[in-house]
Amino acid sequence: MGVFKSIKSFFLEKKDSKPPSKEKKEENVDKLESDEAIKAPKIKNKLKTPGEKVLKDLPIEKLKPEPKPKPKLESKEDPKSSLDKGLEKTKKSFFSKLSNLFVGRSKVDIDVLDELEEILIRSDVGVETTIKIIDNIETRVSEEKYVGKSELNKILKEEISKILEDANLNINLKPSTDTKPYVIMVVGVNGVGKTTTIGKLAYAYKNKGKKVILGASDTFRAAAINQLQVWADRVGVNLVKQQMGSDPASVAYDTLKSAKSQQFDVVIIDTAGRLHNKVNLMNELSKIKRVMDKIIPDSPHEVILVLDGSTGQNAFEQAKQFSSATDVSSLAITKLDGTAKGGVVLGISHQLKIPVKYIGIGEKITDLKFFDPKTFVESFFK
Ligand code: GDP
Ligand code: GDP
Ligand code: MG
Repeated sequence: MGVFKSIKSFFLEKKDSKPPSKEKKEENVDKLESDEAIKAPKIKNKLKTPGEKVLKDLPIEKLKPEPKPKPKLESKEDPKSSLDKGLEKTKKSFFSKLSNLFVGRSKVDIDVLDELEEILIRSDVGVETTIKIIDNIETRVSEEKYVGKSELNKILKEEISKILEDANLNINLKPSTDTKPYVIMVVGVNGVGKTTTIGKLAYAYKNKGKKVILGASDTFRAAAINQLQVWADRVGVNLVKQQMGSDPASVAYDTLKSAKSQQFDVVIIDTAGRLHNKVNLMNELSKIKRVMDKIIPDSPHEVILVLDGSTGQNAFEQAKQFSSATDVSSLAITKLDGTAKGGVVLGISHQLKIPVKYIGIGEKITDLKFFDPKTFVESFFK
């Protein structure tokens, strides 16, 4: 098995793993909320979980649980091919532009580099990172006599790998096995894919044989809690929740208490990303952390910041805000399947020096991958 190991490869496949995305449209509304909105959450959002409805509507005999299909441990799909598919859009747009570079030219000159610079910027690599790449390439081109299309591709690939590998040098790949429970807090603005990523992570850990418990500390809307409940049910893990509007730190407290007394291995805490300024954000996150630390010293052991890869420069801004408000240990970059802006992974790791640990390439339960710089670049240049 290669270094890049897709979560799918160690875990079973589920057929109907598409998460319900009823809340999708409402999510953006929250980005504009005011203090008032926080104090008076909208009641109309108090949806029933889809599960509740189904139960009520079905005749009793249909409520018997269906025999569980035997988990398939080996997936037929090559994990690499699903990564390739997930990055298709970015790849297509990047390479079609890259091949146009050489139309009517045979070697790398100043014009080619200028255009390459533009391509990188338009792929959301970010200005600082683009300049660094172009500088490095310029130096190398001036050292080598003849640089044509395939040489440029090779150099570019090497430079991109170097940047990603540098940023990921110190990543803690695996939770320490003697830390139990191992506590993960997931942060990020609303709509980036926190809850979905938690569902996928819970699935991954569960299939590694871990006893997983989730905490619904995003208490802003009932729908947010319900969404996490749906994931917990689907994966078959425990969830600690309170009413909508309750104190997120109190939910975290309850969750860690249960985790400790019932000997869970992994705790994953969902949070709200609705805090519209840095002071609020900092206060909220440090309160949650303070409470956690009381029950399990040094927790959370890991803080994952989730960023929506399709938002390009916005993701940069969020990464800056969050990393200055709390200690972010690693990033999960989601929705890379739906965007041609996958270059954002590059810029973020380079500029913020926060390792990218996971990438999300779809809405399915298995669509979360460990991010491995080498495989990412390979897939990108294939
Ligand atoms: P096992 O054979 O299923 O026990 O797999 P391991 O947990 O030993 O992991 C094997 C390899 O997968 C490691 O060397 C890592 O490269 C990779 N891996 C495992 N867990 C993680 C993780 O949390 N993040 C990342 N990025 N890679 C991981
Ligand atoms: P949260 O507000 O941060 O908790 O975000 P959610 O987990 O509710 O996700 C918002 C939307 O993004 C949902 O419709 C998810 O299905 C979708 N989503 C999350 N991750 C991915 C991904 O990797 N790819 C795609 N295509 N959609 C995703
Ligand atoms: Mg959520």
